[in-house]
Amino acid sequence: MKYSFKIFSVFGIPVELHISFLLLMLLIYTVAILNLAPGVDLTAALLITLLFVTVVLHELAHSYVAQKYGIKIDRIILLPIGGVSAMEELPEDPGEELRISIAGPLVNFVIAMICYGIYFAFIGFGSYPYIFEFLNNFALVNLILGVFNLIPAYPMDGGRVLRAILAGRMSYLQATETAASIGKFLAIFMAVVGIFWNFFLILIALFIYIGADAEYKEIMISTILEGVKVGEIMTQKVKTVTGETTVEEVMKIMFKNKHMGYPVFEGNKLAGIITFNDISQAKHGDEKKTITKFMTRDLVTTSPDEPLTDTMTKLNKTGVGRLPVMENGELVGIISRTDIVRALEILKLKKGN
Ligand SMILES: [Zn+2]
Repeated sequence: MKYSFKIFSVFGIPVELHISFLLLMLLIYTVAILNLAPGVDLTAALLITLLFVTVVLHELAHSYVAQKYGIKIDRIILLPIGGVSAMEELPEDPGEELRISIAGPLVNFVIAMICYGIYFAFIGFGSYPYIFEFLNNFALVNLILGVFNLIPAYPMDGGRVLRAILAGRMSYLQATETAASIGKFLAIFMAVVGIFWNFFLILIALFIYIGADAEYKEIMISTILEGVKVGEIMTQKVKTVTGETTVEEVMKIMFKNKHMGYPVFEGNKLAGIITFNDISQAKHGDEKKTITKFMTRDLVTTSPDEPLTDTMTKLNKTGVGRLPVMENGELVGIISRTDIVRALEILKLKKGN
């Protein structure tokens, strides 16, 4: 994730702190130590430290259970409203996802119970106000974080628990769609309440809405495209151009054929690809120059047998928007983002019910 950096490792998992959490901690420490605002005192500084410890324990619980199911954790990112355990893959079995998701909030509830237990067991004996205050605060932070994460909305743990439960009754895709819709609805509700009550709630609502939407799209795409190969949806008749083509000529071809990218051959060798984006770098007076000056030369290619999901990852990385499809060193087709979007729409109708 952007704006986060590694602070330490546990069980071989790098733990990263997000800058927003660091800034919040520094802000509260500074205000507390310099006594800048009434109410923000050492108790507040202690609370933010406890929140940090709590978020770490919460995430470690998720990671511990996930690793038990053989799922690798890339890293843990700590945010003020909880953390994110970046799993390399999603658990296949809904039961596993349920247990991984619930482990985090469960740890918070157990800590809260232990703290309250000690608190009530010893409060009758002598007076150690600081220890009691600590126990009380730590319990409260854990209770709030546990309950908050159980809100049934992505990307909260509660949303994953809900999907896992729904997945027992319907397809994984439908379960995700339903859970994401509930998440978005709750986010809108939260934002409305936030307008009248607390601005911070609007931020959380936004975070939930975006998360729900992104998760659904990702699952939708990977579910629908599962098993589809590049060869099935690529454009087979490829219009190509040669290295001698001028900027002016290729512009005409683009307007006429309405495709925005063409493989470029030098002799009988595929040398690059020319896109509308490349051509737009040309300046006035470049019209008669050949396209070789402007084309993209470091080619990323794909093959007819490649799974479409892998090709999508390549497409997102290159930013060219289309990839030449090669088989035994020969150009057999081209696949663009538009091809994939069209295939998605058709397959969605087919698999939707
Ligand atoms: Zn969690």
